[in-house]
Amino acid sequence: MKSRLAATLALIAVVVVSATAALAQDKGSVDPTPLPPLANPNDPKLGAKELFARKLLPAAMPTRSIGSYARGCIAGAEQMPINGDTWQVMRLSRNRNWGHPDLIALLKRLSVKAHKDAGWPGILVGDIGQPRGGPALSGHASHQIGLDADIWLTPMPDHMLSREEREETSAVMMVRPDRLDIDPQVFTPGHLMVLRDAAQEPSVQRIFVNAAIKKALCREAKGDRSWLEKIRPWWGHDYHFHIRMACPPGSSDCKGQSPQSGGEGCKPADLAYWFKDSIIHPQPPKEPPKPSHGITLAQLPAACKAVLNAPDARQ
Ligand SMILES: [Zn+2]
Repeated sequence: MKSRLAATLALIAVVVVSATAALAQDKGSVDPTPLPPLANPNDPKLGAKELFARKLLPAAMPTRSIGSYARGCIAGAEQMPINGDTWQVMRLSRNRNWGHPDLIALLKRLSVKAHKDAGWPGILVGDIGQPRGGPALSGHASHQIGLDADIWLTPMPDHMLSREEREETSAVMMVRPDRLDIDPQVFTPGHLMVLRDAAQEPSVQRIFVNAAIKKALCREAKGDRSWLEKIRPWWGHDYHFHIRMACPPGSSDCKGQSPQSGGEGCKPADLAYWFKDSIIHPQPPKEPPKPSHGITLAQLPAACKAVLNAPDARQ
């Protein structure tokens, strides 16, 4: 079992690293080309991502997260406003600043805390989800039910970014070139405070960071360290961290994950896997992975079809 798990993780590593390493740095355009209409939207083999990516507004339905983080959708999503006193949304061309209203409220709250505790002007918000959630044409497998959000590890600048800056600016790499630790020139005590504030939110289920960041948090966290349990190493989080909320109370269609267990996750044995040479420097696959259409509409929960076909919510 263990070696099968390791093999699966290694496979995920190759796929995820190749898919997401550049992701945080993918630049956008202030004038993106709209997607062309689909020749056959009812083709049962069509990837559901093609359908969800073409919905520019949420479904006019009561709010509901349906399915699981990597296989689902959301009705009645709310848009994160692109500017607040303590946040700005990046890469507006992606139209992925939609999420469950509880997540939008959490991000706003967290941005105030980042300002107060870490002295940051605020936070830069990356991808949340599409207006109706679901799989996306690029990037993540998760972020499908409006409960995942990427926050840049670069503090918000003290001025309002232009549309161009939001598409072109790159986040700062937090990991040392040898990938064994953080870069102390850029990873500051403020980062620890922002991550701690996020993890201490009771509704946050887990947070993904690069393993070197987890290692640094383990070394540097003082006082109450129980929040470290929610911080998990994962691929593709050198420039941003990923907040995942638990299913909101009463959302019976939402399939969450079991709570984190196993303590702080700071023992050498907890982290050893992530610093193996084969993980830090994964071998490219012998054969390039076959292009995939991804999951189809039929493979999503049945209720997602109604979400897709519902009229646009008025904004
Ligand atoms: Zn993410």
